[in-house]
Order: sequence, then C-alpha cells, then structure tokens
Amino acid sequence: MEQHNLVIIGSGPAGYTAAIYAARADLKPIMYVGLQPGGQLTTTTEVDNFPGYPQGVDGNQLMEDLKNQAERFGTDVRWGMITQVEFSDTPGGFHTLTVDETTQIQAQTVVIATGATAKYLGLPSEEKFMGHGVSACAVCDGFFYKGQEVVIVGGGDTAAEEASYLAKLCPKVTMLVRKGELRASKAMQNRILSTPNIEVRWHTETLELLGNEGVEAVKVRNLQTGVEDVIPATGFFVAIGHKPNTDIFKGQLDMDEVGYLQVQPGSTKTRKPGVFAAGDVADKVYRQAISAAGTGCMSALDAERYLAEFH
Ligand code: NDP
Repeated sequence: MEQHNLVIIGSGPAGYTAAIYAARADLKPIMYVGLQPGGQLTTTTEVDNFPGYPQGVDGNQLMEDLKNQAERFGTDVRWGMITQVEFSDTPGGFHTLTVDETTQIQAQTVVIATGATAKYLGLPSEEKFMGHGVSACAVCDGFFYKGQEVVIVGGGDTAAEEASYLAKLCPKVTMLVRKGELRASKAMQNRILSTPNIEVRWHTETLELLGNEGVEAVKVRNLQTGVEDVIPATGFFVAIGHKPNTDIFKGQLDMDEVGYLQVQPGSTKTRKPGVFAAGDVADKVYRQAISAAGTGCMSALDAERYLAEFH
C-alpha cells in the first residue's frame, strides 16, 4: 500500500494553498481533486475580490493558476474521490483512505478541504441562468448588480446579511421568505426590517426565473393566497444554506448539527491526531476564497509541525 506524508482531500482554494505550502516544505503532498475539481469558484464567472488580481480574474483561471503553482513545487494532483476514511487514534500513526471505492492508500497527515455546497432551489430556470443572474454569494457577485434591482431567497442569517450587503449597492432588494418569520438573529431581523430599500415578501415561493440572455424578472407565488406576481430583477441570489461535504467523516470527527467540522480554535486541528480541516468545510461564517486559502496555509503548517515530531 502507498504511504505518504500528507494527503489533501479537495481542490478548492483551501486545498491548493495547503498544497503550495506543503510542497514547498518538501512534504511531497498528494491531492485528490474530488467531484468538482477547483471547487465552488469554478461555478462563478468573475472573481473581483481575490487579492492580487487588480482587474479581477475568471474563477476557472484562478483555480488553474493555483493548481499550476501547487504543481510547480511538486504536488501530485490526482483525479479521484476519497470515498472512505479510517482515521488512526495513535499519534504518528497512519490514516487509511479509500480512493474511488477501490484502492487504499495511507498517510500520516490528512488535510480535509472538501468544502461546502451551496443549496439551490432546484428550478430548471435557475440552472439555465447560473452565472448569468443567478448567484449563491452576494459578497462575491453583488457588485456586478450595482444600481440594479435584485431578489434574494431565504430567511436565515446568510440571507439577512446578504440582503443588507446588497441594499448598499442596489436601489431595491426583494427578500423572498417562505414562512411568516425570519430565522435570522434578532439583530439581523431588525436591520432588515428597518432598511427602507429592502422589501420582505412573506409566505412567498419562487416559481420561475424569466429572461433571455440573463435574468430579467422573478415569478413568485404567495403560499397563503395563491396569488402570483412577477418582480423585475436582474440578479437572483439564493441564500438557503450550504451543505458541508463531510458525510464520509461522520462518526470519526466532531461536527456541528449541520455537519461542519469542528477544529481547535486558532488552528486547523480536528480531534484525530494528524487530521486537519481547512476552508469552507470548517467555516460556516466567512466562506470566502481568501479565508479558505488562509486556513489552507494554516493546515499545511500544522501538518508540517505535526510530522516534525515523528521524523
Ligand atoms: P439557515 O439554514 O439558517 O437558513 C436557511 C433559510 O433558507 C431559512 O430561512 C429557510 O427557511 C430558507 N430555506 C431553506 N430552503 C428553502 C427553500 N427550498 N425555499 C425557500 N427558502 C428556503 O442557513 P444560513 O446559511 O442562513 O445559516 C447557516 C448557519 O450559519 C446558521 O446557523 C447561521 O446562524 C450561521 N450564520 C452566521 C453568520 C454570522 O454569525 N455572522 C452569518 C451567516 C450564517 P425556513 O426558515 O422556512 O426553514
């Protein structure tokens, strides 16, 4: 069986940054890219807020740049999914990972950077306009809708924060909430309800997005009255939660009720020795490419220091 110093699971900004640092430290990291090579940024068109790109950068290009940088220092980037893990409790012991349900490999340290997946409503028109009016991240894409009317779906803290963010850029933000109340914290609720250019539509569901090249309007229905309406909007933001990609770690690592991995504060250490978590898989609050890259760096340094104890 192959044995390695470090296996990185996942190929978003956290995974690649961990790879760059680990490879430069001569750990000879192996990366498994997973189902969506490059991660969530490959679903966005333009990234304007990643430091170092004054003119912005295409999400796919950014991930390609990170990959090239990781490979330049010798990261072994492999296609494949880790489908099962068996983490050791012994400090310095090897963890066993199964690749694509067939091959087993071992590693003394593992960086989990499997990310989270934004939830969408599942409407065909939502898929059609993905990247052309539909977004699951207002902080990433809101700027492109400056001066335009937008709609946001959801009633949790994310939706409330994003509606508030959008209200600073857009003349009108319509928030579609399926119940008669917001799930967001009281403070966020107060902020939403007192912002003049945010209109909350209660008991409202989205039926369809209308438009040609991009979104032009949102067709909705009031769930109590059955009355349908069409709201003009060029941006449609979905903020109905994320699902961290942690199913294969259940029972082995500590998670919160939604499944986000828990790490020791100020580090990327999980409760298993030599297993570290970086990026969105352990972060439900910030969820930015740059903060994921930051914890990716931390995870490589944590792994390097851990390995130094056993070599
Ligand atoms: P939540 O799960 O808290 O909220 C999801 C919202 O989306 C709910 O209002 C839910 O409605 C609605 N929703 C779910 N599915 C649908 C659907 N199919 N159609 C329409 N609406 C739908 O997710 P968040 O991302 O908002 O927050 C996740 C966690 O992260 C929470 O614990 C939150 O507090 C935390 N968070 C904290 C922040 C901070 O501290 N600054 C910032 C952002 C998030 P319903 O209520 O009817 O179920």
